[in-house]
Amino acid sequence: MVAKTIPVDPFDLIIIGATGDLARRKILPGLFRRMCAGQMPETAKVIGASRGELDDAGFRDFVKDALKEFAGDTAKDSKSVAQFLEMLEYVSLDVFGDTGWKELKSKLRPDMIHAVYFSVGPSLFGEIARKLSGHGITDEHSRIVVEKPFGHDLETAKALNAELRACFDEHQIYRIDHYLGKETVQNLMAVRFGNALFEPLWNAQHVDHVQITVAETVSVEGRGGYYDKSGAMRDMVQNHLMQLLCLSAMEPPSKYGADAVRDEKLKVIRALEPVAPSEVVRGQYSAGRDMASYVEHAEDPESKTESFIAMKVKVANWRWASTPFYLRTGKRLRGRMSEIAIVFKDPPHSIFEGDFNRKGNVLVIRLQPDEGITMRVTIKEPGPGGMRLTEVPLDMSFADALGDQVSVMPDAYERLIMDVIRGDQTLFMRGDEVEAAWAWVDPIIEAWQEAGSRPVPYDPGGSGPDDSLMLLHKDGRRWREIKP
Ligand code: NAP
Repeated sequence: MVAKTIPVDPFDLIIIGATGDLARRKILPGLFRRMCAGQMPETAKVIGASRGELDDAGFRDFVKDALKEFAGDTAKDSKSVAQFLEMLEYVSLDVFGDTGWKELKSKLRPDMIHAVYFSVGPSLFGEIARKLSGHGITDEHSRIVVEKPFGHDLETAKALNAELRACFDEHQIYRIDHYLGKETVQNLMAVRFGNALFEPLWNAQHVDHVQITVAETVSVEGRGGYYDKSGAMRDMVQNHLMQLLCLSAMEPPSKYGADAVRDEKLKVIRALEPVAPSEVVRGQYSAGRDMASYVEHAEDPESKTESFIAMKVKVANWRWASTPFYLRTGKRLRGRMSEIAIVFKDPPHSIFEGDFNRKGNVLVIRLQPDEGITMRVTIKEPGPGGMRLTEVPLDMSFADALGDQVSVMPDAYERLIMDVIRGDQTLFMRGDEVEAAWAWVDPIIEAWQEAGSRPVPYDPGGSGPDDSLMLLHKDGRRWREIKP
């Protein structure tokens, strides 16, 4: 199968914070790979900006090193690297200062798509928006891209939205959640709405429950101070897991379009029931396996921030009444794994005799590792010996299905940046979605803050606290295994 690459129109992209970690690791290597894939036109221009006193040549050297480190084998092609570096320019400016903006404006070409990537902390978003529009760098056709975290709670998210909307219309604002750029996430929509097979079963009548897991092996070492101010609920649940929940639970949109899809996602968030404290388990990893504990990484022995969270979530609508969604995410777990598992109910009656340990059908949408989709089905155990049943996976690994194409498939950031240039907001969060997500999350956080509750400790390299296993056990269910 050959993936089709549709080139985007010529553009000028400004990256504010172009010397930062995100630009170095993701944005610039991603653009380079899109150029190599023939999707980014030769006439595109990328203008880096930050306070660093660099000239164009200095910035190109910086990007050359970044490509060497983060662009994989593509960066070995020196002709392509040289071609990409030719597209780069640089302006030194302080977001809070008044110099540099005129120069930035002079670098933009008329009749091009103009986009500005805010690759800086959110405390700078408002000021950048004001400077860009105040200096006439952006107009009603420009697009801006903003990174997570989008707010710390409902109040701050509303304030951020207000600051951005004072200068830009909602259709110009692209709020990135890179989970939405993953191939499998879009495939979730393709599987649900492109096949007649699944949708009739996609409801409480046939689905027993849904599990959404985002497990990480990494700790917060090196960014403990930053992480300690947010925790798993704010850092992962409010955005990434919530988006996966929305795409799994939403009604079919009338078409695959930005507002149609986002309207349906918003309805899911608004249908979420408040979560009782007894249905949330928060954990903090202990020391072990030659590594310090969470509180040591956070440099606060009294920290009450969670590095793990598991919760039972109910979507109060006709489709999902009585089908719980279990969410869990954490650091320092046994494996790195992100997946959505749709666990179907058992057949209503078994015609087969014997002690058959029926597990039921499970549709697994794997985001990482090895993006793909698996359906667990029951078949007859091969060979003579009567009718014994067993379970086998029908596996669609993208690596197997697409072969070499996988290595050139755009990663989430690449895809999303190209969507910005195309003007397609479908895979970006709308302001009202973000606010609705915070409105649901805030009371949960407030409840445990009021109670002064501490997260329970859990061993590194495992599946999280035992209490999280109990969350499902008490409902007669069990988590899928987190594999190393
Ligand atoms: P970072 O490494 O601290 O980089 C920040 C960039 O902004 C640098 O280029 C810095 O350069 C520039 N900058 C800071 N203050 C400035 C000012 N007053 N005027 C002009 N430029 C300024 O941060 P990052 O990790 O790249 O993260 C950027 C954003 O992406 C943050 O919102 C972060 O939460 C989000 N994010 C990052 C990642 C990641 O993997 N890194 C992942 C998801 C989201 P100078 O100091 O030279 O000005």
